[in-house]
Amino acid sequence: MDSSGSDVPACDYKNEMKIGVFGGTFNPIHYGHLRAAEDARELLCLDKVLFIPSGNPPLKTDDVADASQRYAMARLAVAGNEFFEVLDIECVKPGKSYTVDTLKALCDAYDTSDLYFMLGIDAFLDIPNWWMPDRLVSMTNFAVLSRPGSMFTDLVKSPYLAIEDEILSGLDIGKRESFRSEMKTRKEVVLLNVTPLEISATGIRGRVCSGRSVKYLLPEKVESFIISNRLYAAVPDGLKH
Ligand code: ATP
Repeated sequence: MDSSGSDVPACDYKNEMKIGVFGGTFNPIHYGHLRAAEDARELLCLDKVLFIPSGNPPLKTDDVADASQRYAMARLAVAGNEFFEVLDIECVKPGKSYTVDTLKALCDAYDTSDLYFMLGIDAFLDIPNWWMPDRLVSMTNFAVLSRPGSMFTDLVKSPYLAIEDEILSGLDIGKRESFRSEMKTRKEVVLLNVTPLEISATGIRGRVCSGRSVKYLLPEKVESFIISNRLYAAVPDGLKH
């Protein structure tokens, strides 16, 4: 495997649909997710971005909203964007859902080799801790998205990539917008600089819990959903069980 690669070329015509798969807890979905997905759609000329909220974690904690609620928020957030769709494939599945199973189902359903699993640098680096990571990385192409707080140069730690440090630092300083290369699995990886929005779901939940505003961090309809369903609100000590 060499580290050769290229900038991502302008959209070229292809018969096959190009699909981005954006998995996450989306607890809640926010503008960091939405803007990153929009940038990836544009830069990779994706025909569709599928948002896939994860199912209920086995040990559900107070600040993880129900899968059905996270799914509902994601639907509210993408409404009006013809390229974005939310799938409930993991939300409706009883028990644990694994990304390998979800990708297998999508590969079967969409009959395309042009599937890009989209995730932030932080999440990509975490893949070795996921279920069947080697199988997972051999199944699909990847789009690794910049995220404030993470650096492309951190990707030298990834066992799945071999990209020169100079290229990674070029991305970090904005000298390059994107870089396409081959993974060790021979699948394609595209590193993309997306609009840097320092927004996290953890930060949003913390704000809601302490009664602070979350306006302009996520779509208004998602904010209203959080308020009307009393999500992430601090539970007074006397009411805790
Ligand atoms: P939490 O703070 O609860 O960990 P999160 O904000 O990181 O949540 P997730 O649902 O865990 O959101 O993230 C789903 C995917 O979106 C991950 O691949 C993550 O790296 C990416 N992501 C999240 N926030 C951003 C952001 N601001 N910019 C770019 N990518 C992001």
